This record gives sequence, structure tokens and C-alpha cells, in this order.
Amino acid sequence: MKQYRMYRNCWLEFNLDNLENNFRNFKKMVGPDVLIMPAIKANAYGHGIVPVAKVLEECGANYLGVGSVDEGITLRENGIKMPILIFCSNLIQEVADVYVEYDLIPTIISEEAAQAYAAVAPAGSKIFIKIDTGRGRIGVNAEKFPEFFKTIKALDKLKVEGVYSHMAQANWPDAGADYAMWQYERFAKALAGIGEDAETIPFRQLANTPGGIALPEIRMTGVCPGRAMWGYSPLSKRAEHPDLQAPLVAWKSRLAHINEVIGGKFGDNFAATKLTKPLRMGIMVGGISDGISKKIANGGYVLLHGRKCPVGSSISLEHVILDLTDFPDAKVGDEIVIIGKQGAEEIPYTQRMQEWDLPIPKIWTDLNPHMDRLYYRHGKLWAATKDKVFYPLDAK
Ligand SMILES: *Cc1c(COP(=O)(O)O)cnc(C)c1O
Repeated sequence: MKQYRMYRNCWLEFNLDNLENNFRNFKKMVGPDVLIMPAIKANAYGHGIVPVAKVLEECGANYLGVGSVDEGITLRENGIKMPILIFCSNLIQEVADVYVEYDLIPTIISEEAAQAYAAVAPAGSKIFIKIDTGRGRIGVNAEKFPEFFKTIKALDKLKVEGVYSHMAQANWPDAGADYAMWQYERFAKALAGIGEDAETIPFRQLANTPGGIALPEIRMTGVCPGRAMWGYSPLSKRAEHPDLQAPLVAWKSRLAHINEVIGGKFGDNFAATKLTKPLRMGIMVGGISDGISKKIANGGYVLLHGRKCPVGSSISLEHVILDLTDFPDAKVGDEIVIIGKQGAEEIPYTQRMQEWDLPIPKIWTDLNPHMDRLYYRHGKLWAATKDKVFYPLDAK
């Protein structure tokens, strides 16, 4: 393993104690008998799939739900032993052998896929079936489920470990729980259609973050929270949600260069850097490619020396130009905060969401995996990642 060093001065900091607390609070909410499968697709919504999986495995999550076989392989190669479900992103017929090799659980939604998997998988291999109850996207139609289940059962090779479905309304029940209840009824009817066999399926799940928090009626034996793990509750009207806190605590940078622009005809000489007056410019590491919005150039600011430092001009792929007029003491190497606290000032991620017009989860998934990510646990630096490579840093 190569030794970890930070080479590029634009990085993210995570407090994984918050993730741990979010998981434990969510577990308390849903009760000890409900199985939990955190959804950690899309690089754990940008939070870094390997460190997140390690924490959740340690906390006692029952399954992990990931978006691709590649993510599943990454987790196995980094020592994750717990059951991993792949949501749905390939034709099982073409990659069934890889599911077997890495012990990944496939989502089965067609007879062809079931047959192809049964042909290569050891007897008793676990599968999940996804049913569509009203999201109108992926899954066996709820009304067709009993017949589909019979077909799978007849293969006599695969163990149906889970049946799951996805909520159609991202932020209900603020929007009203009627649709959710209708989805639940379709789900319940589909399960009733297989009689006593339903009880042999350990993980039966429809509830996501808001469902898990606010609608005990639909929890069944499992829940699949995504956003709750990242400290976000989409519910505004219900009080009984746990105390969720964002594991993403800081996005930082440093001054790479200071440029006293003193001569020339501004605006013409500097075709890309539009200035109306001579300027002391600070060049900050980090730009559009890292996930910083172009909107930051329209009157936006970052924190420097514990104060607001305005953006001075355009933003490019890997840099932002700051206006250092009011920072005569600023020097190369000084720390900058894009998200987080500095001195008495703070820019929460929710402020960036508003300023940059980025909804959840895009504010997180826009964070480029190439940025260094530093992970803290119990007040100590514990690990780092860059380009999804995991570097353990605890001194054990
Ligand atoms: C992403 C995902 C979830 C998590 O949804 P949240 O509303 O963020 O909790 C649940 N189920 C499936 C199938 C998903 O893909």
C-alpha cells in the first residue's frame, strides 16, 4: 500500500461519528426487529463508499445496497464481509459469474436473469426480487409478483432473501401519505399472493428515509435509508425524527498563489479574468471539476482568516479567483473554507445547496471522487481516500 500524502490542496473532511450516530438513531426509530440496509450507491452519495461501509458494517447494518457490481467489488477488495445487494444496473445474464465470484446478491427482475444466475450460482444462493409498487420504474409489477415468485421457486436453486420496492414520492408524507399507503397495500397484496412463503423471506422492504422515520405502518421487516445516513431528513412537518447530523463537516482549500494585477487595460488584457479595477487576487485550489458551482462567481464568497472573502472573478476547471483587497496579510498556503466553520463564521452545506441551486443528493454527488477525503473518528484522523482508494491512517 502506498503511503498517503495530500498533494492537492482542495479536500473534504468527514466526521464518521455522525454517520455512526445517524445509523444508531435510525435503528432506535425503527426498532430492534427491523433489518436495515443502508443505501450507499453513488460512492455513498459522494461520502466515500469504503469508509462508510466499514463504519456501517461495524455498527451492525444487515445488508448494504450499492448501485453497481464495481462498487460491490471495491467493497470486497477492501475487506467488507457483510451481505451486499446490487440494486439494478446490468443484465445478470452477462455478469452472473462476477456476482458469484465476489459473493454479491443480485436484484432479479426477469426470468432470464434468474435462470442465468441459477446456472452458475451454488445451490441456496441468495437473491432479492424488486417489485414495482408505484414508482413506475424498476421491478416486477406487483400484480405479477406471485406468478414470478412461483417461477423462481420452481428453479429450486435460489433462496429469495429479500423482496423490496421503492417509494415514489421523495419527500412524503409532507406531501401526504396516501400514495405511500397505496404502494404499501399493493406490496402487501403481492406478498399475500404467495401465502406462507412470504414468511420465509427475511427482508421485506418498502420504506426509505422518510418511510422509515415517519410511517411505522409500512416498515415490514426491513428499511433502506439513504439520505438519513448523510444527516438529512426530508420531513419538515413531523417532529419525531431522530437527531441527524451531516457527516460532511468541511470542504477546504488553500491559497496557491497571490497575484498583484497592476498594469494593463483591465478587461481587455485579461480576456478571461474580467476586472474593473486593479486587484490583489488570490488563486484558490478547486473549481468546477471539483463540484464548485459557477454561481460562486456571482457575488459568492469563501472563508479566509475567519472572515468572508469575496470571489473576485471567473471560476475555472480547477481554480477560483478571490479578491484579497481586504486581506493584506493573506499569504500563499492560507486555509480557505468552502463548506464548514472558520473562526466565528460558518457556511453549512445547506447554504451552498441554496446558493448553487443544487438539490439533495446532487450537492453531495457532485463532489468529485478525485478530491482527497479525510475521515475522522472519535476526534482522530482515521482514514483518507482519493479516487476511491482507501488509506487507513489509524495508528493501531
Ligand atoms: C437510493 C435508494 C433508497 C434510499 O432512499 P432515501 O430516500 O434516500 O432514503 C432506497 N431504496 C432504493 C431502491 C434506492 O435506490
